[in-house]
Amino acid sequence: MDAAPRVGVVGSANVDLVVRCPALPRPGETVLAGDVSRLAGGKGANQAAAAARLGAAVTFHGAVGDDEAGRWLLESLRSYGVDVARVARVARPTGTAFITLDAAGENQIVVAPGANGSLDLANVDLHDYAIVLTQLEIAPEVVADVVARAPRVVLNAAPAVALDPAVLARADVVIVNETEAEALDLARLDHVVVTLGADGAERRERGRVAQRVAAPPVTPVDTVGAGDVFCAAYTVALARAWSPDEALAYATHAGALATLALGAQGALPTDQEVTTWLARASS
Ligand code: ADP
Repeated sequence: MDAAPRVGVVGSANVDLVVRCPALPRPGETVLAGDVSRLAGGKGANQAAAAARLGAAVTFHGAVGDDEAGRWLLESLRSYGVDVARVARVARPTGTAFITLDAAGENQIVVAPGANGSLDLANVDLHDYAIVLTQLEIAPEVVADVVARAPRVVLNAAPAVALDPAVLARADVVIVNETEAEALDLARLDHVVVTLGADGAERRERGRVAQRVAAPPVTPVDTVGAGDVFCAAYTVALARAWSPDEALAYATHAGALATLALGAQGALPTDQEVTTWLARASS
């Protein structure tokens, strides 16, 4: 087998603290919740873990605090085979997302980016990677630096935040969901991928739909993190020098498989699982 393609992921790493309560609190109200669960999260860390699980040689560039939560996040990434030697340990608390869910699955999320705000790529050489994958949960200057310096970049323009059009134009590939797509001017870009939830995904060239792939029918358990697995799979496929058509089919199946278990990093499919599903879909 060929050597695993080298993928760099530049992005956020958070601890997600999740509680369920009967109803979300109104301002000034206190509600009692069930037991708290702690999950590894942050789009950067989720995508790095997903890409490693799919077989890429992944290095994560991020920042965590010099605290117990930071050590725990790094251990979690290491357990997926991600190289975390370049992750900075900074004098701010590890990024934390406080997630409250009600009985109907409605949520309230407060994110304290903490250490993620101190990510600095100065002195980091990005030329080693077949491709670099990044998102918008880190400082815009860092994203601008990545698209300027890395030889090939996939930008997952999520979450929906203001973005310099020059940065968008400079990325080789832009991946967004339908809501994010509406907020951005994508019409002049050559390689855009829009994820469509249960409907799959499409690739657009200069505003024209060039390819559409239906998602395989699944009964989702939890769709959180499916978009992150999709982005990782699309990037890994391109890093293997596959065509965009092949990458779209692979990523759409990987995203669907990611909905089958709880948690953003709880359902990361392997390369073999994705290719088995793909073979089934095309037979
Ligand atoms: P995000 O979570 O970022 O909004 P989407 O909801 O578009 O992203 O999902 C990303 C990908 O995950 C989709 O392109 C698809 O491959 C897969 N996916 C998500 N929801 C479902 C679903 N209900 N059934 C099958 N596949 C899904």
